[in-house]
Amino acid sequence: MVFDTLVRGGILLDGTGGEPLGADVGIRGDTIQAIGALDGAEAARVLDAAGLAVAPGFIDIHAHGDLFPLLAPGAPARLHDGVTTEVLGNCGESPFPQSPAMLAERAESSERHGITVDWTTLDDYARRHDAARPGINRACLVGHGNIRQAVLGEADRAATEAELAAMRREVEAALDAGAFGLSSGLYYTPGMFARPGELDALCEPVARRGALYASHIRNEGDAIEEAIEEFVAVARHTGARCRQRALRLQLSHVKVSGRANWVKADRVIERLHAVRAEGIDIACDRYPYIASSTSLSSQVPGWAREGGRPRMLERLANPADRARMLEALAADFPTDDDWQALRIADPACDEWRRAEGCSLHDLAAQAGKPPAELLLDLLLASKGRASIVHFTMCEDNLAKWLRLPLVAIGSDSSSRSIVGPTAVGKPHPRSYGTCARVLGRYVRGLGILSLPEAVRRMTGLPASRLGLKRRGILRAGAAADITVFDPATIADRATYEVPQQYSVGVRFVLVNGTLAIEDGELTGNRAGRFLRRGIE
Ligand SMILES: [Zn+2]
Repeated sequence: MVFDTLVRGGILLDGTGGEPLGADVGIRGDTIQAIGALDGAEAARVLDAAGLAVAPGFIDIHAHGDLFPLLAPGAPARLHDGVTTEVLGNCGESPFPQSPAMLAERAESSERHGITVDWTTLDDYARRHDAARPGINRACLVGHGNIRQAVLGEADRAATEAELAAMRREVEAALDAGAFGLSSGLYYTPGMFARPGELDALCEPVARRGALYASHIRNEGDAIEEAIEEFVAVARHTGARCRQRALRLQLSHVKVSGRANWVKADRVIERLHAVRAEGIDIACDRYPYIASSTSLSSQVPGWAREGGRPRMLERLANPADRARMLEALAADFPTDDDWQALRIADPACDEWRRAEGCSLHDLAAQAGKPPAELLLDLLLASKGRASIVHFTMCEDNLAKWLRLPLVAIGSDSSSRSIVGPTAVGKPHPRSYGTCARVLGRYVRGLGILSLPEAVRRMTGLPASRLGLKRRGILRAGAAADITVFDPATIADRATYEVPQQYSVGVRFVLVNGTLAIEDGELTGNRAGRFLRRGIE
């Protein structure tokens, strides 16, 4: 047999979680042609994988950001971390649909980045994406937030029947164009304004098509158990409406936030098992860190964000509204430790650049003002765009999530480089180190999970959640997305203090049969694609 590429002598971890097996992998074009002992085979190029693990390219089921693939099209941080496919459109926010109001809202930032944000549909975005010659593949969910905003704006009210029908048509259009499912962010505006029943109606076409419903649930702290029930109820209601197909649920970045809630982890796990026993197909994803990262604006109450960013900025400048926000913040951050746990990732404005990486507690002490005041000042100065890293979790619970077989690995981050516009600020290190950290720290270091199982959580499991047919398992006929790494040395290097550092230990990466990393270095080849449900 003659191949374009032969990966020779490695230890195969095929993505199913099964026992490692010595085997060669023969690739022609963008497809795996053969797996086994291929001793006599000829190949244009032979990659020596002796002593190395050969796995399906990692699939990051929880990623964000439609601009990042255009700003850093080579996706170097992902490739060095072994990732060949990431899933955009999580937490209710997707690249599409974009209403004229949303495009106008983004005009300013899009100018700053030198990229014209003018795409409105999946097809538009897919074209822009592929024209940038991406280093990795991307699949997309469609965001409930986009859809609600397109139909109702940022209003805090129930949808009318006509609006519900309009939203449903948007869901159907995105799914039929190739979105892999629907996501919601009920913690964010405008997702939080959804009334009971709204997601049930919108998930019906999702279930009928066998697609995925992923949610950043309404509450991950004090009311996490209620929020999980709300999420599960969507599947129950949808199941009753369209009996022929069950809705697949993905609980995004499973966690319990806040020290007082940490004890709830065991109850949450018990509940997840019970829900599955009831026949509801629920799984989760999680990143291997104990800090979250999100927008600074998410820390002010929902009423302050109603109507969108411009309205929030007006309220920040209004003394009476500001006083109410300060009151809410005082209740949410009662102690110095609470303020110490909140760090600025990117202040998103030049006059606050010094705040990068600092805690609200320290910044406030330096400025001689209360941290809540400082938070609102920064929010206003950044025009609502500052982002944070928030230490709200614990290692004990992280180990519990990672041990759960239904938890896929998802970075909850955007694809970045260590140089250029995506390297600004102190972004959460998960953008750079997620998969290598699981394999280095949690598999090799702490023994929390086995190597084949960890690989399954980054490959076979996310592929099955998404309905990817040609990726996530190494077998003949599959797409040649392959990550070859050294289990003895793979490690993350990104830290909270210096996040812009690539992972080490990933030796070769093939994306659609093309070598993207060779001997640990980027080749410059960029062979990623925008993937569509049913077309990979
Ligand atoms: Zn989220």
